[in-house]
Amino acid sequence: MNLKTTEEIIARSIAQAFPAANLDIEGNGAQVVYNITLNEKLLVRLDHIGAVFNFPTRGSGKMSWSGIKEGSPETVAASIVQDLANAGFTVLSPVGKRIQKRPVFIGRYTFCPQCNEHSLIRRIVYGMIYQELDSEKFVSGGRGIGFNDPEIRCIGCGWEGIPEDVRFTKKIRG
Ligand SMILES: [Zn+2]
Repeated sequence: MNLKTTEEIIARSIAQAFPAANLDIEGNGAQVVYNITLNEKLLVRLDHIGAVFNFPTRGSGKMSWSGIKEGSPETVAASIVQDLANAGFTVLSPVGKRIQKRPVFIGRYTFCPQCNEHSLIRRIVYGMIYQELDSEKFVSGGRGIGFNDPEIRCIGCGWEGIPEDVRFTKKIRG
């Protein structure tokens, strides 16, 4: 009998979805560590306690198996694979289709990359405005320049950019 551990199932699921990456297995027994590496850079490390992510994510960069309240190892693996897709890695669905980045959500907890404040990022609306804008979400951009106009603005410091710029911004603790 060789029952697979949670970390082994997750590691193998990630490796399967990530053809360019390598899965290296170190140690044995309870001390086994699964390392997902790409070009010798360690991206995900899994052991019997949890996983550590060494690529940009929205979260803390760590996950412990005891903290997972619901979901099978396969669904946990799928969420890690989606995080890899969001960070730009080429990862595949079970039928071999490339998984796309999730759209960036702009909301209260979106931090400005320039002033590090949250609740201040708005989507810019160009052109004539016929209805009153929800000022919690939108800001008028006037006519724009018509090419590569920014899509979002910080109403605190005036920074402008695109949603991708704030995909991974989080509070910088100083
Ligand atoms: Zn700002």
